[in-house]
Amino acid sequence: MTQLEHLIRDIPDFPQEGVVFKDITPVLAHPEAFAELVAAMAEPFADQGITKVAGIEARGFTLATPVAGKLGAGFVPLRKPGKLPYETVKEEYQLEYGTDALEIHVDGVEEGERVLLVDDVIATGGTAAAAIRLLREVGADVVGFSVFIELVFLNGASKLDGVPIHALLRYD
Ligand code: AMP
Repeated sequence: MTQLEHLIRDIPDFPQEGVVFKDITPVLAHPEAFAELVAAMAEPFADQGITKVAGIEARGFTLATPVAGKLGAGFVPLRKPGKLPYETVKEEYQLEYGTDALEIHVDGVEEGERVLLVDDVIATGGTAAAAIRLLREVGADVVGFSVFIELVFLNGASKLDGVPIHALLRYD
């Protein structure tokens, strides 16, 4: 995990002042580190009967698809409004200023399917919490949330409504 930590690039004041953005592109560009990351995010869920991995647009897709491959599961995208072509279900969530939303195809998961949620970073937890509500709305059993980086000081894990979180790197 040491190598992964060294490859994360901190970008101060991006995309706005006061935010230290965790840039994971150097990890994705490094073949061994990327493979190690994907294996480590999938491993705790290997024997849990996961049939779908849901990824949050856009950086979540880069991790969710290979994790799905590792688990022998399918992939389902959770996207910003207006991007998915078929019939969708929407869930809104609060941002610091205003609201945002995620959508899923109505047939993205089947009733009772065991789903793992994947993203790159959890900060305040608003995005992951909306993703969990959305997945449950279409009938998913959300088994866990696998995330690369947890910004612990923002306490996002408390918003996940009982869904267990597995974070590889935790920053206090
Ligand atoms: P939140 O809803 O506050 O937990 O924000 C999580 C979403 O915003 C994730 O999809 C992340 O990709 C992105 N995000 C929030 N904070 C950061 C950060 N400091 N560095 C990188 N991505 C972030």
